[in-house]
Amino acid sequence: MTINILHLYPKEMNLYGDHGNILSIIRRCEWRGIKTNVIHYEPGDKLPEKVDIIFGGGGQDSGQGKIEKDLAKIGPWLKDKIEHDTPALLICGLYQLAGHYFETSEGQKIEGCNIIDITTIGGPTRLIGNITINTPEFGEVVGYENHSGLTKLGEDALPFGTVTSGAGNNGQDFTEGVRYHNCIGTYLHGPLLPKNPRITDFLIKKALENQTGKIQSLKPLNDQIELRAHKVAAKRPR
Ligand code: GLN
Repeated sequence: MTINILHLYPKEMNLYGDHGNILSIIRRCEWRGIKTNVIHYEPGDKLPEKVDIIFGGGGQDSGQGKIEKDLAKIGPWLKDKIEHDTPALLICGLYQLAGHYFETSEGQKIEGCNIIDITTIGGPTRLIGNITINTPEFGEVVGYENHSGLTKLGEDALPFGTVTSGAGNNGQDFTEGVRYHNCIGTYLHGPLLPKNPRITDFLIKKALENQTGKIQSLKPLNDQIELRAHKVAAKRPR
């Protein structure tokens, strides 16, 4: 069994250790004897036939502008995958562009691909620092955020979690990220997954369930180091 991981736009959308999320998925699969295959997708590339996990990271406003056209092209395909329950993790820049649009602080409107019901507008100051949130599915989640975009959830969007320290979607309403089907959209870089292994396992479990059509229970791993990293990160001051 092989899990095919699609990494969207690794050249432009890959900040603050986002690539470490891919490594984390690979390693936790390896430790369980599950093979992985990473597909790097750049603008103009052919879309792969088999995708089991979708990953997209963050980027500068300029990088988001560079992928806008291509994202419009692959948007319907991505939407279809996510709405058919392909597990996905979209962070910061690609989280914003999975929504309706991101209007930068300079007034440039970058169109999103309308998968999730959010809109983002660049604020006057960047929201930077360590962040801790509480989520119903994964408990406490820790990460690092750095964004100018202020994201508002539409009526159809459910947050990923509630901010306990940091800014999250907009620094106002305590919401952080979005949950939709098996997709998690979030501002949390870090990289996120090494310090929050339950999320990594959620992505792997859903990928295996989609392949087999059966409920899967993953072999437990020794997470002592990961949990220590989580604890240290949670204690870091904002
Ligand atoms: N450029 C976007 C913003 O500043 C996204 C930043 C990021 O991906 N870290 O809001």
